[in-house]
Amino acid sequence: MDMRIGGFFTSSESGHSFSVMNPAYNTVYESVPLSSHADVKHAVEVAQGAFTTWSTEEPIFRAKVLFRAAEKVRSESASLASLLTREQGKPLRESVNEIQGFARVLEYYASICSHIQGDYSYSKAYGHSFVVKRPVGVCAAIIPWNLPALIMSWKVGSALAAGCTVVLKPASTAPLTCLRLGEILDDSGLTPGALNIITGPGAVVGEVLATNPNIAAVSFTGEAETGKRLAQKVAPSLTRLTLELGGSDPMIVCADASIAKAVAGAVMGRFFNCGQTCVATKRLFVDASIYDRFIEELISAMQHIVPGDGMHPQTTMGPLNNLTQKEVVSEQVQDTIDAKQGSIQYQGTLSEHADPLGFFFPPTLLTDVSPEAPVMQQEVFGPVLPVVPFTSIDEAIDLANDTKYGLGASIWTTQLETVHTIAPSLRSGVVWVNQHLKVPPEIPFGGVKESGFGCENGFQALDHFLEEKSVLIKL
Ligand code: NDP
Repeated sequence: MDMRIGGFFTSSESGHSFSVMNPAYNTVYESVPLSSHADVKHAVEVAQGAFTTWSTEEPIFRAKVLFRAAEKVRSESASLASLLTREQGKPLRESVNEIQGFARVLEYYASICSHIQGDYSYSKAYGHSFVVKRPVGVCAAIIPWNLPALIMSWKVGSALAAGCTVVLKPASTAPLTCLRLGEILDDSGLTPGALNIITGPGAVVGEVLATNPNIAAVSFTGEAETGKRLAQKVAPSLTRLTLELGGSDPMIVCADASIAKAVAGAVMGRFFNCGQTCVATKRLFVDASIYDRFIEELISAMQHIVPGDGMHPQTTMGPLNNLTQKEVVSEQVQDTIDAKQGSIQYQGTLSEHADPLGFFFPPTLLTDVSPEAPVMQQEVFGPVLPVVPFTSIDEAIDLANDTKYGLGASIWTTQLETVHTIAPSLRSGVVWVNQHLKVPPEIPFGGVKESGFGCENGFQALDHFLEEKSVLIKL
């Protein structure tokens, strides 16, 4: 599949390409162009050309394009989902949900296009003053492989709604669904060149894109270390930047919580997308008084997880997306065990639909875990769940905050008072109560500490793509 520049599929001027693998088999599934510096420059120029048209379209026109694209995406969700599963690995039903999520985000941004308004005031001294909000220009969107369609919708939906044009760089291991979604947006009446998608290694193409002098704003989602490097690269030009980075979300289960609901929440929170979600439940803290029962029910629930090829109907957990990811997760578990900072309490088995060459990792439960263990201090992007008991709310809060990250966190309790005690003390961008992983398009979502700055979703995400101009009129 080729890149998309100016509303068309196009190969790289370098003539080179690279392979996209199917992670369930470690076999080549497709190839995409290895874009060059010249391709990136060209894509930005095309986006600049399209900005004049797209930014001056009536908001209702932009809304119609986004609504139309969402409808087409919904009608093609089956084929898009199978494309997503084949390049990313997740079970087909998770892919269908992600594709539907893409459509839902586009619909949300379509619905608020006409509500992007400035402000007004009057005073005798200064006269009529108004504040207009204008799209900033061409934006660079750089996204990871874990939720390629959803994260594309967060960035592209809000930027296009604001009137900006975009050059998107998807992850090298999952660019195909994004390319097809870009084609659908173009076919829905987008100004040609309003969305361009280039493919190639982030360390080269991503940096060249983000530091292009004609990029007005960069929206990045990925690992904290990549985000820090990117921040240094764009600092000299003071380009606007949002960083949506990693997380190590705590889940706190209080003594009064429904154990059944909390167990189901932990299984979904940790093993959805094979654990490769920024807001996955990455550290579980359970009140000591219910710990033994909780672990028993958790193991029983984990026994129902079926790891295998995401295309197989019985599969409930796919492979990790790439070999590096598998190696990193294996190492984090091994390092924890070698350091005697945790032990494997339960490890599932792979199903017969898990090819030995695929990047599979079994669902794993770690107990007797020290807060200093690698699986507690590093972001574990895989199906590994460390559980630690606590004996007081204060201890649970301290354990939850003992991380450099601050993305999401959840509290499981039936007492509102407990929510009001714990929630304000958690240093995270989002706090869920009796749920986890919920990221609706209407609600802003972002991190604190090393999980980054800025946000996706909600009206608030538009601010990154809009600049304000104050006009004071005295006649
Ligand atoms: P990476 O940081 O490795 O890559 C993310 C994107 O950045 C990819 O497109 C990658 O390209 C590109 N990239 C890599 N190096 C550079 C660079 N030097 N300059 C510019 N771009 C670069 O992250 P992963 O793909 O491994 O994604 C997983 C991470 O994303 C996890 O930490 C996860 O928590 C985080 N994440 C955060 C979310 C949030 O909202 N906070 C949501 C989802 C994920 P290439 O693929 O070619 O290397």
